[in-house]
Amino acid sequence: MAARFTWPVLALKIVGAMELLTILNHCHHHRGFVYQHARFGPDQKSIEVNVRPREGSVAVCSGCHQPAPGYDHLPERGFEFIPLWGLLVFLLYRMRRVDCRNCGVVVEEVPWGDGKHQLTRAYMLFLARWARKLSWKETAEAFHTSWDQVCDAVEYVVGWGLEHRTLESIRAIGVDEIQYAKGHKYLTLVYQIDQGLTRLLWVGKERTIESFQGFFTVIGESLAAQIEFVCSDMWAPYLDVIRQKCSQALHILDRFHIVAKMNKALDDVRAAESRQMAQDGYQPLLNKTRWCVLKRKENLTAQQKFRLRDLLRYNLQTVRAYLLKEDFQQFWEYHSPTWAGMFLDFWCQQTMRSRIPPMKKIARTLRAHRELLLNYFKARKQISSGVVEGLNNKAKVTMRRSYGFRTFRILELALYHSLGKLPEPELTHEFF
Ligand SMILES: [Zn+2]
Repeated sequence: MAARFTWPVLALKIVGAMELLTILNHCHHHRGFVYQHARFGPDQKSIEVNVRPREGSVAVCSGCHQPAPGYDHLPERGFEFIPLWGLLVFLLYRMRRVDCRNCGVVVEEVPWGDGKHQLTRAYMLFLARWARKLSWKETAEAFHTSWDQVCDAVEYVVGWGLEHRTLESIRAIGVDEIQYAKGHKYLTLVYQIDQGLTRLLWVGKERTIESFQGFFTVIGESLAAQIEFVCSDMWAPYLDVIRQKCSQALHILDRFHIVAKMNKALDDVRAAESRQMAQDGYQPLLNKTRWCVLKRKENLTAQQKFRLRDLLRYNLQTVRAYLLKEDFQQFWEYHSPTWAGMFLDFWCQQTMRSRIPPMKKIARTLRAHRELLLNYFKARKQISSGVVEGLNNKAKVTMRRSYGFRTFRILELALYHSLGKLPEPELTHEFF
């Protein structure tokens, strides 16, 4: 039968079962345990390696992590190890139960895995690392395992990381919402945005007062009291929580959210006017102008520049709104909050006279948040703006790559995994 001697099978025959044990002893050695017998599984597609306790070694209680006298054995079970030569590798072991003084009769603790997972820690860490580079589905396919196993691996690594991360000395945070799934489902994301360390700290369901408060419950009052800068958008529930929990911090409205709001308003003006002109029987002048007015002038293509020049000849609402938006860019160039404030007042005054409702709405909003806007200039040297935007983009990429992530829990895991900069459990051997 040809199938009996596919190349991985030959590889194992050539490398030899003894050498496999040597490799395992070298890269996956655990005190108190020895490897014995490596052979093919019944299907010829896997390798099975027996593990047994070293002679005279004492089992450790999984409850209190202390050595304890043996009680009995459970039936043999497999722990899946990193595949070799395309073959699945299982470590077979009969777990002992101990009779612990503190915990009673419980299963022993084994260093390569635990009772809950079918995969060894080494394999879970291996899969989880790949799941950061590939989608979970691709990871599962690459290593002949299932999406659920990859998910399990990520869950283990993220759980370990959250338990072992340090949350000391957070000086600056940014809070942002992100839309997921179809419809209006939102997550609240809290990032650390210190100059030396940017990472995702918290994922909350919804974008309510309660979800953001969850973050402060996790970090506790003394850490919250040390926060010096908070960056957010103008979402009212966030503003409330920040006032309440970080009253001592300088609260900054994030530039990127304001630019986004302004672009949205301009887009509304353009779309409405375009519809109106079509109804009135005018030529479709505003078609294909969307990017001309939304992009920064210096980023336009030659074609778009022509179109913009053409457009500017008409006294349209869209044009006036565009000029107001372009004008506002100057705001961010100021150094002194006083001058920036004067500019803001002047701009809002002009805009209120524009008779363009979406732009007037923006002006009213900016006026209402004047003080928070000007904080941008007070904090400018301390936190780099654009950090929240960058993290937000990464979060969106993670979500896009994650087509099976339908539930909040899975999405939460994926976001922590790719943006949390979590510590990882250590192995006796590095596989990369
Ligand atoms: Zn115990």
